[in-house]
Amino acid sequence: MSSSERDPQTTAPDESAGSDGASPSAAPAPEEGAAGAEGMGAPAERAPEGSDAAGAPVPPRGTARGDGDAELRAAEVPLPLRSAVTDVASTRVVVLGGGPGGYEAALVAAQLGAAVTVVERDGLGGSTVLTDVVPSKTLIATAEVMATVTESTELGLRFPGAGGGGTDAGSAVTVDLDKVNSRVRGLARAQSQDIRERLEREGVELLAGRGTVLAPDRVQVELGDGGTRELRADVLLLATGSHPRELPDAMPDGERILTWKQLYDLTELPERIVVVGSGVTGAEFANAYEALGSDVVLVSSRDRVLPGEDADAAQVIDDVFRRRGMTVMARSRAQSVVREGDGVLVTLSDGREVRGSHCLMAVGSIPNTAGLGLEEAGIRTSESGHVVVDRVSRTSIRGVYAAGDCTGVLPLASVAAMQGRIAMWHALGDAVSPLKLRTVAANVFTAPEIATVGWTQAQIESGEAQGQVVKLPLAGNARAKMQGIHDGFVKLFCRTGSGTVIGGVVVSPRASELVFPLTLAVEHRLTVDQVAHAFSVYPSLSGSLAEAARRLHTAPEVD
Ligand SMILES: Cc1cc2nc3c(=O)[nH]c(=O)nc-3n(C[C@H](O)[C@H](O)[C@H](O)COP(=O)(O)OP(=O)(O)OC[C@H]3O[C@@H](n4cnc5c(N)ncnc54)[C@H](O)[C@@H]3O)c2cc1C
Repeated sequence: MSSSERDPQTTAPDESAGSDGASPSAAPAPEEGAAGAEGMGAPAERAPEGSDAAGAPVPPRGTARGDGDAELRAAEVPLPLRSAVTDVASTRVVVLGGGPGGYEAALVAAQLGAAVTVVERDGLGGSTVLTDVVPSKTLIATAEVMATVTESTELGLRFPGAGGGGTDAGSAVTVDLDKVNSRVRGLARAQSQDIRERLEREGVELLAGRGTVLAPDRVQVELGDGGTRELRADVLLLATGSHPRELPDAMPDGERILTWKQLYDLTELPERIVVVGSGVTGAEFANAYEALGSDVVLVSSRDRVLPGEDADAAQVIDDVFRRRGMTVMARSRAQSVVREGDGVLVTLSDGREVRGSHCLMAVGSIPNTAGLGLEEAGIRTSESGHVVVDRVSRTSIRGVYAAGDCTGVLPLASVAAMQGRIAMWHALGDAVSPLKLRTVAANVFTAPEIATVGWTQAQIESGEAQGQVVKLPLAGNARAKMQGIHDGFVKLFCRTGSGTVIGGVVVSPRASELVFPLTLAVEHRLTVDQVAHAFSVYPSLSGSLAEAARRLHTAPEVD
């Protein structure tokens, strides 16, 4: 199925589905550090931090913000050379989990002619649609508008009746969080329903219930409406996702001490929210609530926020957060969080106390693999509980595949979806290329956003990649000046000698949209000259990408 044939509502963020056609050997190895300590010393958060839970340094990471075990796992898995099945029409595919890792795989398997059953415990679309990506980005959409409005007085807007003679836009605009959250929940439900309808149209059998693996070819389902059912599987895909890490001394109560899944039941804006964890999830929510009007305290165990990101980019966000009035507590580790009347008390490991009306715990995720029957079925998991897979999503057992957050390869919806598709292409004998993490584009939805792709500057500076770097602050860009954009930059990395674009960073409003030309350049190994020779609109922020490419041009040697 080509991406254009898909209902855009039902496709995962990565809609460029398909065999990438690149040689497997050309794909560089994943290089991320495995687990990220944040806030309370938890392991891997969405963007793993730069140290493990004990604070030990891990290798620098690139845009591919995943688990450094991935390549090791690929090497460890003893696997057969041929695909699991030969007769697709009579092949029974069972998928555990209806998030993007699962439902995108089901669509591919159905398209290829297999008989497919998806078993889903909570709701189609998974955490991605119901509690994580869709809700958070919908909330952030409102926060973005708030931020734009409150910063618009520089452009000449005035708000009659507001303080400061109409220049204090913050006092003129308020948010109805009940309404925002009801919109968030409605959108999530609608998208889940779209996915259900799409799967049904494709002839996929849907079972509401919890699946457990009895054997590599047998799954038991405890049906949501009672009873059990046993399924036979020629191909089994595990796509069970992950859930927020909870800490014994900071147990969420769903009212004041919250995981990110519980935020959407709030009916009133938190007066003062303490966010524990300054990885991607913590930073995105801290940014959003600050923009919506909460007083925000961000507790970060590291020197600055977003320690897993490009250092310059993270510094921009750190500076912006502080400038906007957020309290950023660096090198601070939360020891415990308890209810105190109508508020919360966060005690740091050095004894300091922080009070707030609410606390958001954003200290990492753990895979949904416990009690799934994996050990009994001989399916190998890592110490962290992730399913060990190779780059075509095979587990240690023939015919059993895994995709998404339960593998810990790279906790992004786009990667989960691609792993799921790759699993089915491989299992059902279609053309397939191994997963390439180097070309994954990722984004942090703060204001400004941080979008990244390819190798990192840290890797270039450490000599891991031979490259040149150019960085252009957006402050010099004509469009940025017109729009009142003061923070941000574009950075471009090219291979020394060949001039091939190997990576880049964009820090700007809507960086998630601007990074695409860089992703194309990295994917198709364009040179900086090829990028520079393409027209960009004048004036435009993307003009800075072309300008960065021009600056990396190396004049030909003259005899
Ligand atoms: C706050 C937040 C924001 C994020 N924002 C982004 C973003 O902007 N972009 C991005 O790319 N990524 C984002 N991510 C990461 C993204 O959410 C995950 O990488 C993605 O959800 C992984 O998809 P999945 O299919 O592996 O798992 P999920 O979407 O979690 O789906 C797994 C499903 O399996 C089901 N399940 C579990 N066990 C069983 C069982 N035994 N039987 C049956 N069903 C079972 C669960 O109910 C769940 O529905 C975000 C994460 C968080 C926490």
